[in-house]
Amino acid sequence: MENLLTNILFVLLPIFFQIFLINLNQKYKNIILTTVLSISIILCMSFPIGNFEGHLFDLRYVPFVLGGLYGGKKVAISLYFIIFIYRFFIGGAGFYIFMFDSTIVLLILLIFLIRRYQTYSLKTKCSGTMALVGFVAIFSLITCHTIFGFIFHAPILLLFSFVITQVLTMGFSVYFLEYLISIDRMKKQLYHNEKLKSISEMSASISHEIRNPLTVTRGFLQLLKNQNIDNEKKKTYLDLSLRELDRAESIITDYLTFAKPPVNVEMELLNVNDEVNYVVDVMQPFALMQSVSITKEVLINESYIFGNKEQFHQCMINLSKNAIEAMENGGELQFKVNKEGNKIIIQLTDTGVGMTPEQIARLGVPFFTNKEKGTGLGTMVAFRIVKVMKGEIKVNSKLNIGTTFTISIPEKVNKPAID
Ligand code: ADP
Ligand code: MG
Repeated sequence: MENLLTNILFVLLPIFFQIFLINLNQKYKNIILTTVLSISIILCMSFPIGNFEGHLFDLRYVPFVLGGLYGGKKVAISLYFIIFIYRFFIGGAGFYIFMFDSTIVLLILLIFLIRRYQTYSLKTKCSGTMALVGFVAIFSLITCHTIFGFIFHAPILLLFSFVITQVLTMGFSVYFLEYLISIDRMKKQLYHNEKLKSISEMSASISHEIRNPLTVTRGFLQLLKNQNIDNEKKKTYLDLSLRELDRAESIITDYLTFAKPPVNVEMELLNVNDEVNYVVDVMQPFALMQSVSITKEVLINESYIFGNKEQFHQCMINLSKNAIEAMENGGELQFKVNKEGNKIIIQLTDTGVGMTPEQIARLGVPFFTNKEKGTGLGTMVAFRIVKVMKGEIKVNSKLNIGTTFTISIPEKVNKPAID
């Protein structure tokens, strides 16, 4: 009994080893597999389940078959020679019978099994390999009996356990190996899906952010269609359109470097008033289209914050766009710039549909949108940008009354350069 259990252990050990082999290069994998399985085979043969008059009862065929099926022809042939040499070295009665049996197993593996094995279902793999080793075990006993005529005088328990253990260990080994392989496959699949998901999220986000400057440019072009526009205004509109198209381009560049850390984003001192003015100008046509009037209240002198210009514009535009979209039947969007302690406070207040506390709680969560054509990325991007600027956003909203977004960002004192 003890010998039987140690034999099973010898066979199972290489299978646990398989966990480390799965992701290895095929060449090394075969070398390691052959080595490990050879050790397993040699151990099996050195400590057999039983030895009846020089005939060894052990589980050597299990690692042999496994090696062939999971390592390929080269592994099978190498193992064949290793068993062969070791069996010769041990000596004893059954050498020629063994040679005959193992050659048959090798031929079955090489001719029938190895090539097609991976296409079989788990059930076929288990039952097929179990049948194979069962057949070989019984076949070896029969040939042995025919030639020497004594093997069936061996204790019936030994014969019985020899066959049954062989079959069961084989089945379990294949099942367990397949299980390990399927876990690995699942892991790879999951990784692949994760990658696809982030790609699709990224492309959704890109198209969303590109739509902002396009909408704005479209608004300007629409205004330009108007015949009685003076040249001065025409130039301003064209300039703003061009700037917006540049913005679209830089957003693409930004998002393509999305995966890189924010270190790559150029940070600079931003004049709050200038930047807010820019955003108000840019949003004007879109607001006009929705009959929204924009007002601006600036309660500070020249003040600076630290951030990336494009990103700051993007953040403000995303929030103003949401505000304007919340006022379908027109309304008022107010920009208020103030200072509180060492923080610059920018408030965007609209008189739109407002939000429920549940909606506010979900703001900034990717893909949360209440709009038919929304992407639910605008606020997420805005929140992220403000976070990079070490600021925060607070939201106050009442249904059917309006919403206020309060952005507070640390002020940077602009030290004049000393010549
Ligand atoms: P999207 O605009 O594509 O829907 P956002 O992330 O920009 O995605 O906004 C998410 C949701 O938050 C919007 O669908 C809208 O319901 C709500 N929301 C955002 N800002 C406002 C606002 N100022 N007033 C009312 N609802 C808003
Ligand atoms: Mg939006």
